[in-house]
Amino acid sequence: MRLIDSHCHIQFPAYNDDRVDVIKRSLAERVDMIVVGTDKASSLSAIEYASKYSGVYASVGFHPSDVVEKNWRSEILSIKEYIANKRVIAVGEIGFDTHRIAPDQKDAVVRDQHIVFDFLAEEARANNKQIIVHIRDAMEIFIKQLPALKKKGITGVVHCFSGTLPDAQKIIRAGFCIGFTGMITFNHSWDAVIATVPLEKILIETDAPFLTPVPHRGKRNEPLFVQEVARTIASIRETPYERVCEITYANAQTLFSL
Ligand SMILES: [Zn+2]
Repeated sequence: MRLIDSHCHIQFPAYNDDRVDVIKRSLAERVDMIVVGTDKASSLSAIEYASKYSGVYASVGFHPSDVVEKNWRSEILSIKEYIANKRVIAVGEIGFDTHRIAPDQKDAVVRDQHIVFDFLAEEARANNKQIIVHIRDAMEIFIKQLPALKKKGITGVVHCFSGTLPDAQKIIRAGFCIGFTGMITFNHSWDAVIATVPLEKILIETDAPFLTPVPHRGKRNEPLFVQEVARTIASIRETPYERVCEITYANAQTLFSL
């Protein structure tokens, strides 16, 4: 039985002391992983680890929160060059995030996030790759993009889904999957979404080192813990754990052509 953590950041400094151990212990338990970049440097190191280990894949992107502090104009031009790499299976994370943005800054920040999103989504399409979307306090902004994305044939996953059931249904109708993290092990806000949407539209992920699931709360998260996300989905849907693992693995394979 195989699983895949469809969204983790094992290139982040949280793993500087034991990164290889973390990767190996996950692969030893047949848990593959997609290492997701959030800027130029972390996208490049995602490719580095994906090139070293089979079962490790890379996604390259620029996180919407980073438009405030980083030189996104030049970084996205570099990231564009990484997309064609054969270990890169998706473009992201890209998206919209208005969390902790001062109200008077919001319009300008969202405008920049839009430019980054449109640019990298278009490059994904040109390279026949899907997108990994980050949305925080910006669901309406993303939902408005869906018709245009659908028209262009751009799909992917909305990672760490935090919206409502109607949001999930709109996103799925546009051809996207939705990703669930360890948050669902301690926050029951999405139980109805998990129970209702087709299992064929769900991906599982850790977002490690963040969002550690129960029963590991208080510890650093890691890709292996995606098993807890699968277990929670199995329990909410009253479906065997093995079936959740199998279907969510197949979903990632299909979506990202793994
Ligand atoms: Zn992430």
